[in-house]
Amino acid sequence: MKIICIGRNYANHAKELNNPLPTEPLFFLKPETAVIRNNKPFYYPQFSTEIHHEIELILKINKPGKNIPLKFAHKYYTEIGLGIDFTARDLQEKCKLNATPWEIAKAFDGAAPIGKFIDKSELQNLNTIQFHLNINGNTIQKGNTADLIFSFDIIIAHISKYITLKTGDIIFTGTPAGVGPIKIGDLLEGFIEDVKMIEVAIR
Ligand code: ZN
Repeated sequence: MKIICIGRNYANHAKELNNPLPTEPLFFLKPETAVIRNNKPFYYPQFSTEIHHEIELILKINKPGKNIPLKFAHKYYTEIGLGIDFTARDLQEKCKLNATPWEIAKAFDGAAPIGKFIDKSELQNLNTIQFHLNINGNTIQKGNTADLIFSFDIIIAHISKYITLKTGDIIFTGTPAGVGPIKIGDLLEGFIEDVKMIEVAIR
């Protein structure tokens, strides 16, 4: 499986990092070795002093597709969950400055904790999904799919022009504002509406 992440998909987050708004979805990949499942802990790596949390709604691809037309994109995912796009912000800032690829800041081991999934039929309206991240019990990031720049369907149609999507692939759909550093000892908990979907302890 592969993980495809959308960058800058909420205007308020693009602004907080002084990034321009994209005119088409911006994406990058994380390898399977980045995944953490079953609420296992994240071990703070030696190579960064500024790992940021980015809570994101994630989609699980349920059948293979290439050049998926926009109107059929909704048939390619049935399950939605939450993931955390851990980002070594200090390394990413260097990448941006030097115009080099982002993998060193985004693709490292443990950089993609993935929680449980729910069937999308359990959600009333995919266009108004509320989600949030608590750190040590305080709500730090809040998002709503009403604020997405590019919808789930647009993302799937766009990515599949370039990369064949396969069953089990995961798409991270972008983070809302409120990103910031984590520290050893923190407990991160992600919720869709009021249902807890993911938990990650920082060790
Ligand atoms: Zn992200």
